[in-house]
Amino acid sequence: MDLWRGLRCREGGFETVAGAPSSTTEGSVVEERGTSVSKPHERGIETVADAPSSTTDGTDDVTGVITPVSLDYLYAASPEESAFYRGLAEGRLLGQRCPECHKVYIPPRSACPSDGNPTTDEVELPDKGTVTTFCIVNVPFMGQRITPPYVSAYVLLDGADIAFLHLILDIPAEEVRMGMRVEAVWKPREEWSTTIENISHFRPTGEPDADYETYKQHL
Ligand SMILES: [Zn+2]
Repeated sequence: MDLWRGLRCREGGFETVAGAPSSTTEGSVVEERGTSVSKPHERGIETVADAPSSTTDGTDDVTGVITPVSLDYLYAASPEESAFYRGLAEGRLLGQRCPECHKVYIPPRSACPSDGNPTTDEVELPDKGTVTTFCIVNVPFMGQRITPPYVSAYVLLDGADIAFLHLILDIPAEEVRMGMRVEAVWKPREEWSTTIENISHFRPTGEPDADYETYKQHL
């Protein structure tokens, strides 16, 4: 019976927008979306068929349910990743080099993805690099800290063989391009901790774009 009655429960943090409004008691008034519907009916019981159609009473069909969702979890960093995060707390970018193929990974992977060898050689990398690929974020979402449009990009640090994701700001989104040279913008030192968020974002260095040949193998 009254399943499709409009329900709004903002206190509970969710909202269901339902279609045909109805009433459960004879002659009662249900207010939805600023409209009032008074509908007396037989025996105080209403079937769906009794309910006014959404096509005739001006209300909308259910199109979605809005509800907050969160997930709390703990991430256990490997010893190599721990070194990386401790380095960040000192403003350093620490990767590791494979002893076999000499590729440099940041963050370190513990073992080389190419040949499986343990990566034990620590390498400190500069905070400058090249944009390999990127996307312009145009879609707003809950918890978003930057107003779209903005750019999320893969940045290949100089000397690294794998790119990592970060923000590209201080430039209009439509001007970001593959090969653009960028540098890290660090937050104030007193805000540093063991997180990549010590780097606020990357910004253009103003250098000429990198030659495609220099990063094409890292796309
Ligand atoms: Zn290797």
